[in-house]
Amino acid sequence: MKIGIPRGLLYYYYFPLWKTFYENLGFKIILSPETNKSILDLGVKTCVDEACLPVKVFHGHVEYLKDKVDFLFIPRHTSLSYGEFTCPKLCGLPEMIINSITKLPKVIKPDFNLHGKNINIDKTIKEMIEPLNINIKQARLAFFNGLEQIRIHKEKVFKEFHFKYHSKRLLVLSHPYTLYDSFINMNLLKKLENMGYLVITIDNIEDIKINYYAGKLPKKMFWTFGRQLIGSGLYGIAEKEKIGIDGIIYLSSFACGLDSIIADYIERQIRRRNNIPFIQLIIDEHTGEAGLNTRIEAFTEMMERRKLYDSNFSSYGKCIYRS
Ligand code: SF4
Repeated sequence: MKIGIPRGLLYYYYFPLWKTFYENLGFKIILSPETNKSILDLGVKTCVDEACLPVKVFHGHVEYLKDKVDFLFIPRHTSLSYGEFTCPKLCGLPEMIINSITKLPKVIKPDFNLHGKNINIDKTIKEMIEPLNINIKQARLAFFNGLEQIRIHKEKVFKEFHFKYHSKRLLVLSHPYTLYDSFINMNLLKKLENMGYLVITIDNIEDIKINYYAGKLPKKMFWTFGRQLIGSGLYGIAEKEKIGIDGIIYLSSFACGLDSIIADYIERQIRRRNNIPFIQLIIDEHTGEAGLNTRIEAFTEMMERRKLYDSNFSSYGKCIYRS
């Protein structure tokens, strides 16, 4: 029996859990390929126009997989953390797909909901095996094996990053599915790496720092990614020397509701302090890279110059070079 997993959205965080779970139970996982132009085109064709780019891309992955598998795994991530929610598009993802794409195989749509005090993991596990005729005890064991795989994966990523030393650093703020899908982000991370930068993301910053700075908002941020992005951004602004970053790039998707608030908030904070170069890059389904390349080049060049000539930096266009 084959279970199809679309390579999109929270695949970038939870795939080790899903893969271990179904493979431990004897199923074959069919993963859609890395995002490419034809997957994007399929997504644009099937998804509603108003959706953001990562959701459109997810539709493309589903369309690619639907005739190749017996079941499709489309999780609903209502909440990733106590007292918080995800974006409404992640909460309603299975319904979006079911109502936009025809001739789907049976859809497995468990709800991952860590919002309340009494989390019902058993309910989620049952939903993960609902159409599969599997013993719940076996499924529980497979689920906890999957959680262990996530822990190992996170630890590896954390260690690999924190042992790296680099003199040129940049903070790149973005949602994981935009950050780690190199087709969606037009290979931004690789481009920055080739320019000699070490890229820091929300996943490389300790929770304690993120929560401390996100806690400075007058009201609790109730979106998990919102908290992580705000916390990381404010941390970058306040402790830029300690972290050693030269600038901040906010990479957002056109039509993302969260980013329209968060990126603007971070930009205003930076304008008030005027202490770190910042750029917001907005991507959509257009695939021409020239616009993005030009902006990155201009931004990094400006950062380099500012680093060299900061004490003689004119805000009104006078020559920045020392006489
Ligand atoms: S948070 Fe933004 S980018 Fe992510 S699914 Fe929601 S609208 Fe799309």
